[in-house]
Amino acid sequence: MAKVVKFGGSSLADANQFRKVAEIIHSDKHRRYVVPSAPGKRFGADTKVTDMLYACYDAVLGGGDALKEFRPIAARFNEIISDLELTISLDGEYDRIIESFKKKSGRDYAASRGEYLSGLILANFIGYDFVDAAKAVHFKPDGTFDADLTDASLSMILGGYKRAVLPGFYGAKPCGTIKTFSRGGSDFTGSIVAKAIGASLYENWTDVSGFLVADPRIVENPAGIETITYRELRELSYMGAGVLHEDAIFPVREAKIPINIKNTNEPRAHGTMITPSADSDPARVITGIAGRKNFSVIHIEKDEMNNEIGFLRRILTLFETEGVNFEHIPTGIDTMSIVVGSGVLEKHPNLPDLILKVARPGHMDIEHNLALIAVVGRGMRERRGTAARIFAALAHNKINVRTIDQGSSEINIIIGVNEDDFEQAIRVIYDMFMLAEDGS
Ligand code: ADP
Ligand code: ASP
Ligand code: MG
Repeated sequence: MAKVVKFGGSSLADANQFRKVAEIIHSDKHRRYVVPSAPGKRFGADTKVTDMLYACYDAVLGGGDALKEFRPIAARFNEIISDLELTISLDGEYDRIIESFKKKSGRDYAASRGEYLSGLILANFIGYDFVDAAKAVHFKPDGTFDADLTDASLSMILGGYKRAVLPGFYGAKPCGTIKTFSRGGSDFTGSIVAKAIGASLYENWTDVSGFLVADPRIVENPAGIETITYRELRELSYMGAGVLHEDAIFPVREAKIPINIKNTNEPRAHGTMITPSADSDPARVITGIAGRKNFSVIHIEKDEMNNEIGFLRRILTLFETEGVNFEHIPTGIDTMSIVVGSGVLEKHPNLPDLILKVARPGHMDIEHNLALIAVVGRGMRERRGTAARIFAALAHNKINVRTIDQGSSEINIIIGVNEDDFEQAIRVIYDMFMLAEDGS
């Protein structure tokens, strides 16, 4: 039996956090494969090592002195090494990185060095072997992730080690160029490692005791979620619940490996279990609420739209040929709305004109500054009136609902509100469901 344990940036922010991590790993002999992030923030105003690396590399590109720019980063790692009383020196590694920066080795290479150095220190501290992710996590020449090759290579390489540390966030193309996943991507590395070695569990250690019903930066002291299905989690993480990278679910989901979100600062807490299925009639109607700002909605009206064969197809074909993706398409009898990220319209300013041309709608208008909120819960299937309760609560608080989309899976209601109402709407929905007397 083997568990994969991934530790996020806050779990490795300083020597004290490294000690907690070592204790967690050593307290369970099944915690055999460890995926570390780069050191994160030690306090609110601190800078994550990954952000320091991006800034350092940009400064070097802009003509800055690489040695000087890299100094604060080396100092952060050296402080951890000396506080842990380790005898290793990373000076040779720093020299190599500085030289590579001078040769313009790429922003991905630069950012990846946080995980790389963090992994070297952690492996030394806990007495595990170090496996460079560049050797086992593969990207194709076009920069997309090569899942099949990585799966084979991770299981072969890690199969040769009883215990190993493999840094998160990056891999390499066949030519050796380092490539990273998107931000927060160490969660994804943990997931592909868990799949490749056939782990019994993927533990994702962070700074909160699991997934909370709502973002703790919006709702004060939200309740925790004990069990959530992959499906529910996918809806929530796509909608911005930042605990887990949105792609991290897929590899483990395929292999039916549960994920346990745990708190490095409170290791005894149960955390959240993410499982393929769960009680279909849970005590709570909703499992979680999440949302994002910065959407626009294109409203299209046309008389007898429903009778016009090919209407939707023409619009979707246009989106396809223009390479534009959309979030939702709530439809009515003679109306449809297309919700897109606001950046999409900035990147494709001629999209509205093209829609007018291919669809000839009677009326079209575009609204900006929309926030989307997903209210997710497998318990919604069994209980009526969830949407009505959400709207009543919002109306009571004078929050105008601009779009509504109830997913066909019946575990998800997505509503659009003005960006200014975003936080308040989440609090109102939270209170409606979580502070109700019967708890449901
Ligand atoms: P790590 O550095 O361990 O990868 P992240 O910062 O990526 O951690 O994710 C954990 C953070 O996600 C929490 O500190 C919290 O601020 C934020 N967060 C957003 N939504 C939620 C939620 N629904 N439940 C718990 N935490 C959330
Ligand atoms: N260190 C990377 C980031 O800050 C990856 C990660 O933490 O998962 O995005
Ligand atoms: Mg993270």
